[in-house]
Amino acid sequence: MDLGIKGKKALVCASSKGLGFGCAESLAEAGVNLVLNARSEGQLELTADYIRKRYGVEVKAVAADITSDEGRFRVIEAVGAPDILVTNAGGPPPGSWEDWDRDDFIKALDANMLTPIALMKALIPSMIEKRWGRVVNITSASVKAPIPRLGLSNSSRSGLTGYVAGTSRQVARFGVTINNLLPGAHETDRIATLVSSVSQDRGVSEGEIRAEMQGSIPVGRFGTPQEFGAACAFLCSLHASFIVGQNILLDGGGVNATL
Ligand code: NAP
Repeated sequence: MDLGIKGKKALVCASSKGLGFGCAESLAEAGVNLVLNARSEGQLELTADYIRKRYGVEVKAVAADITSDEGRFRVIEAVGAPDILVTNAGGPPPGSWEDWDRDDFIKALDANMLTPIALMKALIPSMIEKRWGRVVNITSASVKAPIPRLGLSNSSRSGLTGYVAGTSRQVARFGVTINNLLPGAHETDRIATLVSSVSQDRGVSEGEIRAEMQGSIPVGRFGTPQEFGAACAFLCSLHASFIVGQNILLDGGGVNATL
């Protein structure tokens, strides 16, 4: 399917690896020029080079912490006025509800709620001016069904979800759509960290934890960054202009719910 976005420009945050990379690659495949971001310059440059060579699109790489004011400033300056914004950042660390204090919550809110909100506030006005724009926020299945060890994620991403529910309906009339993609377990470094944390917590091997987690997903496996990226690219396409303010689960059926 021609996604109809060839030649457009996208900012994909936190995209040297994992789900952000999956989104960047699918957009590049659709002919979109990219600004990529991550903190570690080495991996980011490798990723940028791979995408440039494989898809022939323009790729700018900005090594910066997207959760800091200074990092966001540099990324926003480099991208100018993108047509597409994919927000993403590392997730909060796992732990237990008794352990988190105010500082832990502030960090999680900064990274997974206030950072995407700041990016939308900075970049949506130029999309409104152009009467076309797409925003996809990478959140988590934890918004639909809480993950006990990820209480900081459950909380901060719910705040972002509320913001998107209201804001998406105010900008839709200008051709700008905002939607959230909610990953369940995907095969990335993040899932490896979670598996290791649960394994230590329960004194069970990582292999057993992986098998248990995969067995609890109706498709019987973790998702891939490529599957995730394909859904993101569709939401960013010309064909998705009537999809507004939605929270789309990509979890292999893991959340057991009718709606
Ligand atoms: P990942 O494989 O660990 O990749 C994270 C990417 O983000 C890397 O490119 C990393 O590069 C970059 N990054 C992290 N923090 C950053 C920051 N502050 N500023 C800029 N770049 C940053 O993680 P993932 O699995 O793709 O997860 C992406 C998001 O989805 C996370 O918020 C995660 O919690 C959420 N999620 C993931 C899953 C899953 O199963 N994978 C499920 C639910 C939710 P640098 O380290 O070099 O910065």
